[in-house]
Amino acid sequence: MTDSETRAARLLHHRKPGLVAGDPVVPPITASATYHLPQVQGAPFVYGRNGMPTWEAVEAQLALLEEAECVSFPSGMAAISAALFATLKAGDRLVIPSDGYYVTRILSEGFLAPLGVTVVQLATRDYAAADFTGVAVVYLETPSNPGLDVLDIAAVAARARAAEARVIADNTTMTPLLQRPLDLGADLVVAADTKAPAGHSDVLFGHVAGRDAALMARVSDWRRMAGVVPGPFEAFLVHRGLETLEVRLERMCASAALIADRLAAHPKVRGLRYPGLPGDPSHGAVGGQMANGGFLIGFELATEAEAEGFLARCPLVEQTTSFGGTHTAGERRARWGDAVAEGFIRLSVGVEPVAPLWTAIGEALG
Ligand SMILES: *Cc1c(COP(=O)(O)O)cnc(C)c1O
Repeated sequence: MTDSETRAARLLHHRKPGLVAGDPVVPPITASATYHLPQVQGAPFVYGRNGMPTWEAVEAQLALLEEAECVSFPSGMAAISAALFATLKAGDRLVIPSDGYYVTRILSEGFLAPLGVTVVQLATRDYAAADFTGVAVVYLETPSNPGLDVLDIAAVAARARAAEARVIADNTTMTPLLQRPLDLGADLVVAADTKAPAGHSDVLFGHVAGRDAALMARVSDWRRMAGVVPGPFEAFLVHRGLETLEVRLERMCASAALIADRLAAHPKVRGLRYPGLPGDPSHGAVGGQMANGGFLIGFELATEAEAEGFLARCPLVEQTTSFGGTHTAGERRARWGDAVAEGFIRLSVGVEPVAPLWTAIGEALG
């Protein structure tokens, strides 16, 4: 498979082969629900719910990054729902992480379980030794969010395959430039492009990627039949965001490594998690399935009040949920009920120059 630099370079020129003289270099926002259709046969576009040019531009970029077919969705959860509904039926067993993105859990418990799917929750660390006999879908997320535990995708996928289970990997925290679950045996990748890929905290978006044409046809059918379709303006914003994903990630991950190093040495910080740090329990995956330690850091301050005080005081940490945006962002995850300490903060490192960013963080820690 090609390296991430080659894929990032190709992404910027993906429209060139299809352009004729006078065409716009940037894909137009095609705000049309209907298409000129004197006859149905041979028309590239028929109706806005089936497919449209601005999605195709984004899907072409994503396909270059994933080296797989991609179907775009209006949010990460829409992509996750499509992957689950495309692969599960009544009577099936689904394994999901107990320490992953919480909406995937409440979707599974609230909507799939009542339809007859048995939902089994497992900590990310326990996937390595789990028995997948009788499981239809092994859904994984690595590093887990927000705990940043990892599992070995290739090893878990091999054991899932031996049990004839399909593997769906939520790759949101790493993006296809930093981690490649399809190369490691996953059947489908799901991702929230709301995060680093779009990258500017101004749009929700998601995609499903896969290399099995029949499975991807089901994902695409789900989009058309359920009607979970992205808007043209949103697709345009994601196309624009993806053009700078590689350069933003480079800054974000390098800054995160430096900040994690300094937080590790700070007397008020405990329970620091950053896979890029040599002592971290997840460090073994870095340089292997993970290209680097990523841009997310987890750490604890002594109490809820200390953590909230730090977030309120620091002028260069936006107090907000979500991650992967240009602004460094932090929040206390216990406020969502995540199984973490009251003073646990998830920090998403943004693209600010790192010297003033660390100064602001250091001063706010006191
Ligand atoms: C944010 C997120 C999602 C959901 O994405 P939305 O675009 O908010 O629907 C799914 N998985 C992970 C790991 C996420 O961080």
